[in-house]
Amino acid sequence: MVEEEVIRNYIAAGEIAYKAKQYALKIVQPGKTLLSIADEIEAYIIEWGGGLAFPVNLSINQVAAHRTPLLDDSEVLHENSVIKVDLGVHVNGYIADTALTIIFDERYEKLGEAVKKALEKGLSKVKPGVKFSDAGRVVEKTIRKAGYKVIKNLTGHSLDRFIIHAGESIPNYRDPFSLGKFRKGRAYAMEPFGTDGKGWVKEVHSSVQIYSLRKMPKEGEGGITDDEFELLKYVQSNFKTLPFCERWLKELVKKYGLEEVRSMLRKLSSMGYIYKYPVLVEAGGGHVVQFEETFIVTEEGPLITTNPVLNETIKKA
Ligand code: MN
Ligand code: MN
Repeated sequence: MVEEEVIRNYIAAGEIAYKAKQYALKIVQPGKTLLSIADEIEAYIIEWGGGLAFPVNLSINQVAAHRTPLLDDSEVLHENSVIKVDLGVHVNGYIADTALTIIFDERYEKLGEAVKKALEKGLSKVKPGVKFSDAGRVVEKTIRKAGYKVIKNLTGHSLDRFIIHAGESIPNYRDPFSLGKFRKGRAYAMEPFGTDGKGWVKEVHSSVQIYSLRKMPKEGEGGITDDEFELLKYVQSNFKTLPFCERWLKELVKKYGLEEVRSMLRKLSSMGYIYKYPVLVEAGGGHVVQFEETFIVTEEGPLITTNPVLNETIKKA
């Protein structure tokens, strides 16, 4: 595919993602179940012609990421919640990865403003040849100045066709070990997380709601039942190596039942065929705010695909 066509696809995905964020701002309301919120946002993305690059993450308060409703999920969004909506759209495999935080508790509005501002400042540093760490430095400085901490073990990342984390990490602080630089024509996502907690997240391995295909078994490879092989084939043909969740396996759940599908996922992950994404929780129990945008690096700076308004703000700055 020629380069311009690639950029067109990234922009098309970004436009749908931006619309989906506006839609989320309208429909995310206390009293609703997370399940209905996730289903509505994902249906909206599909309605506008986007592919789902990963399950909508709805991570609340001290949960930083990787929370998506289970099929039998009954959690309701409470009053005073701080909810991160992280959504992914792809067009022909070119991904828009973007997040916003909706704050229903005024005590966290200042944190919200700080993280939003930090992302803008970080983005304004982006030019070909600039070190990731230089963007990270202004991100942390902005959040620290407001009296909060960045979450140091969560980073932005490079993107590739059908690959969300394409190998390069963009730290949210001045990381002396990060030597990477922004390269012209490449797509990245920058995503600062700010908190009033300890500033790092831990993985909750007992709570896994998102998976991806790690590898397919070879023909006749032992230990896998026909049903498990069918599940892997289903995942491969529908999601490739992109993340997926239970809600997207409704056909298989209809055939085998929810408990059986869960048990197959557990077994396949212990055998190394399925990758699990544990829920990430702030280590000190602090509240977490996240904002994220996807952009392509151009000679003039970042071309933000997931936020045309911010694109203008950054250009003027
Ligand atoms: Mn994201
Ligand atoms: Mn991301």
